[in-house]
Amino acid sequence: MKFKRVVIKVGSHVLTENRAVSKKRMIDLVDLIARLMERDIEVILVSSGAVSAGYTVLPLDKLTIGNKQVLASIGQPLLLKMYQEKFAKYNLLCSQILLSAADLDSKKRTHLAQVTIDNLLKNRVVPIINENDVIATEELVFGDNDQLSASVTDNFNAELLVILSDIDALYTKDPRRHSDAEIRKEVSQITDEELKDMPSPNGEFATGGIVTKLKAAKYLLDRDKQMFLSTGFKLDDIESFLLNGVHRGGTLFKK
Ligand code: ADP
Repeated sequence: MKFKRVVIKVGSHVLTENRAVSKKRMIDLVDLIARLMERDIEVILVSSGAVSAGYTVLPLDKLTIGNKQVLASIGQPLLLKMYQEKFAKYNLLCSQILLSAADLDSKKRTHLAQVTIDNLLKNRVVPIINENDVIATEELVFGDNDQLSASVTDNFNAELLVILSDIDALYTKDPRRHSDAEIRKEVSQITDEELKDMPSPNGEFATGGIVTKLKAAKYLLDRDKQMFLSTGFKLDDIESFLLNGVHRGGTLFKK
């Protein structure tokens, strides 16, 4: 299936390396987005990473939520500057959209954002969305933009959410703890049991773990949308799926 509009969400853990934003991973991501756009697939990017970017210039303790907000506020323009430089190499523009989940509860605000995003995409500009961390802390505390990106996918008329994670797929159990865990390639429903597990984020910049991803997937399945979970460290699997329609690695959530 060829997608018309997709949302790509990249987590903090993928974008962060040695406590700073990884240039190489950002370049790979921007390169993929440029190639998708060449094939007329519209892309909305939901990017974490503001806290890590802020931390490189002011190493405050990241354990307090107040400090995280300060770091996000410092890091957000730095992160966007990095994206702008990378997109410029492809003669592409990107833009910043800061949202909180509450904005999408309001029909009026959602509509205003929809119109702007449609217009940005018409002008071949890549909208880069992040939670507005100064006035909202949901995703800073729990979820790392997993929920926000699901909501963005539904509200801004995308067919698919791609979550680029530090794990290459959904497994039958946590593969870091169980060597007999097996990949689940296609998932068509998510049970309440699976959503009850405790969050198990991997790494100090990550917050969600697999549960917030399953919640995002359930939200989208309930709305007849699809989600694809794959690794953000190597983009071959997602590239193969989006550009060639070949599902090699990664998990497709589809009804
Ligand atoms: P990200 O930073 O990419 O958002 P997280 O570290 O928050 O990702 O969550 C992904 C982690 O969830 C994996 O690295 C893995 O250790 C853990 N995990 C727990 N259960 C599972 C499972 N069933 N399948 C895949 N990963 C799982």
